Amino acid sequence: MYDAMAGRYTFSCPRAGECRVSLSSFRTLERLPGAAHPVVYRVRFACSCGDEHDGLVSHDELDWAPLGLEGGVFLNLMTSRLEPVAAELGELAAARIGAGEWPWSFFCYPEERPRPVFPSAFMLLMPGEGTLGLAVRCPACTRTSVNLVSREHVDVPFHNDREVGVVEHVFEGDVHATLEEFRAELWSSRFDARRLALE
Ligand SMILES: [Zn+2]
Ligand SMILES: [Zn+2]
Repeated sequence: MYDAMAGRYTFSCPRAGECRVSLSSFRTLERLPGAAHPVVYRVRFACSCGDEHDGLVSHDELDWAPLGLEGGVFLNLMTSRLEPVAAELGELAAARIGAGEWPWSFFCYPEERPRPVFPSAFMLLMPGEGTLGLAVRCPACTRTSVNLVSREHVDVPFHNDREVGVVEHVFEGDVHATLEEFRAELWSSRFDARRLALE
């Protein structure tokens, strides 16, 4: 499903048969109820054929495969070079995380602070001009924030935008429904820039 060489997920497309999309082409992520092991997410993604389709991704593929923790070679998206196998990379990723660097982060609006996060906490991705609206369910406080980020911020592990836009709105109730409504209004909404430096 996840192709570490290309940094892309493979799904089936009713028109093209198969398609490969990056994380930033995901539109919604929803954890499927039941089946605790393995945990599976239903993903709606924007396909290169122009339509959106549904696909399934396991928790491991979502959070760990982009870090090269699933074996084989790994394409370093920063240098466009193939890097050694997973064991070494796993250590490298672990060392960077241990040193306080995080593969992904976001700014939690209710808590007024940046937080480390993994892709499985992403709920909704809304593409705009040059940026991406990213709704994240905070792993610490469980509340939802919407940040405006670059595609690299999502697609390239350990690439964190220095500053992100933060929508000044606290999402309550049925968050998914609220976010879908909010999607249309996002680009006219009020947001402020916040620094993403993690301590
Ligand atoms: Zn398609
Ligand atoms: Zn929070």
